[in-house]
Amino acid sequence: MNHATYLRTAAIPLSGLAPFPGNAKRGDVAAILESLRRNGQYRCLVVREMPGAPLTVLAGNHTAQALDAHGPGDCGQPSCGVCDNAPEWTPAARCEVVTCDENTTRRINLVDNRAADLGSYDADALAELLSFLDDGYAGTGYQEADVERLLAPPPSTEELVDTYRHPEDEEMWPVLRFTAPPQDRDLFYDLTAD
Ligand SMILES: [Zn+2]
Repeated sequence: MNHATYLRTAAIPLSGLAPFPGNAKRGDVAAILESLRRNGQYRCLVVREMPGAPLTVLAGNHTAQALDAHGPGDCGQPSCGVCDNAPEWTPAARCEVVTCDENTTRRINLVDNRAADLGSYDADALAELLSFLDDGYAGTGYQEADVERLLAPPPSTEELVDTYRHPEDEEMWPVLRFTAPPQDRDLFYDLTAD
């Protein structure tokens, strides 16, 4: 058993990095690339170094994919946080290089993906933060429609009954009232939308 030991921080060409074998997360590479262009690479990849093995990305695999998708040279997007509009830019990532045993590499890869999933949101705080942006939602991962849904008040029980009761029944079905986290509410809306 051992934990990760920090070695150094370095800019490493993507060609020198191997993706984590069997990474189970499927990230939104397009959203990450949009963030990288707008915000720059504000967080390091975490890369494992072991003698005789390629440098392997433990955390940040989709950031590496997004940088790869950007490709070399000036992408032509104004004020790009990836290439800085430099024609000579070659795809590279800022990495924290660590060393650890095989078992720990898998744990780090798993928990880095899982810990983000396990979190939840304070919807009021989120809506307030989004309201402070004065030039659109680019690079936040949010779209206008997400924000509208966040701001829309939940329907009353009566509205839910009107919408979802069985149309053939004389008598209304029982009404269940319960609280749910916002992501479950959004999923319910998505599943029941016409
Ligand atoms: Zn660019």
